[in-house]
Amino acid sequence: MKDADFQPIPGLKTPRFADLATFMRLPHVAQSDEKFSKVDIGITGIPFDGGTSNRPGTRHGPRQLRDLSTMIRTTHPKSNINPFTLVNCADLGDAPINPIDVMQSLDLITEFFTELKNQNITPLTAGGDHLISFPILRAIAADKPVGMIHFDAHTDMNDSYFGGSKFTHGTPFRRAIEGGFLDPKRTVQIGIRGIKYDATDFDWALEQGVRIIEIEECFERGLNDVMDEARSIVGNHETYVSFDIDCIDPAFAPGTGTPEIGGFNTFDAQQMVRKLAGLNLIGADLVEVSPPFDPSGGTAWVGASIMFELLCVLAHAVNARNDA
Ligand code: MN
Ligand code: MN
Repeated sequence: MKDADFQPIPGLKTPRFADLATFMRLPHVAQSDEKFSKVDIGITGIPFDGGTSNRPGTRHGPRQLRDLSTMIRTTHPKSNINPFTLVNCADLGDAPINPIDVMQSLDLITEFFTELKNQNITPLTAGGDHLISFPILRAIAADKPVGMIHFDAHTDMNDSYFGGSKFTHGTPFRRAIEGGFLDPKRTVQIGIRGIKYDATDFDWALEQGVRIIEIEECFERGLNDVMDEARSIVGNHETYVSFDIDCIDPAFAPGTGTPEIGGFNTFDAQQMVRKLAGLNLIGADLVEVSPPFDPSGGTAWVGASIMFELLCVLAHAVNARNDA
């Protein structure tokens, strides 16, 4: 049993709809807290949608994900992993942002995640729009580029929007490759689909060596086969996981800014994340849940459930590193 200070409030002690809503009912540990240095996996919200090019609202994602995540129990249904007894998990609150200044927000987020890296805390992050992955990668991959398994309907590798804006939720991974934070040859994008701006949309990423697995290939080959390939591309080296909720079909996750039909169902998504077990994972995010487009809360529940799947494979990786 890990530290009692880091256990979620048991759902059979006080009902899960009661009390303050933290991620998965974990204790809130601020960076100023003396317990901060004992955290292994820090769950952080980034309430930021300043990178959104069309339908906004993901700034409200962390609060709704916290609310729905109180329904999460403790033990994975298939692996029987209890991440909360394996490693110390905590809700670190929200990263600081400035909702009317994109560039300042990116600096504030990088600063926050640099502090996590300095304390050897593995981040699991709830967005926010997909631009938030860029300042996270800039912090955790400051010394050397990492690999990435990226679930999304979109590559998010565009160059710029609206006549030169370089930092949007459609550009984070191009900026991360240019900055040397992401190794394009160890980057896999899974579930890509949707109407393009132009037939050349994927050219830049392909030229860098990124592996783009479009949705047709996912369903033709089967997800086990696709995930086996993704695992072999990233290998045993440090790998980040980025999960855009819009990789899931809008029938299951309509509450997002850029829905694309013809996507994964929620079971597919669970199976794919479970196939990440055993990789050298150094962080993950779940982005693009937009509560204003999610009046039922159903999309946030999908997001919170995927966050638990991500937490279990992260806890597995952190535990393996702690034992090594
Ligand atoms: Mn995205
Ligand atoms: Mn997307």
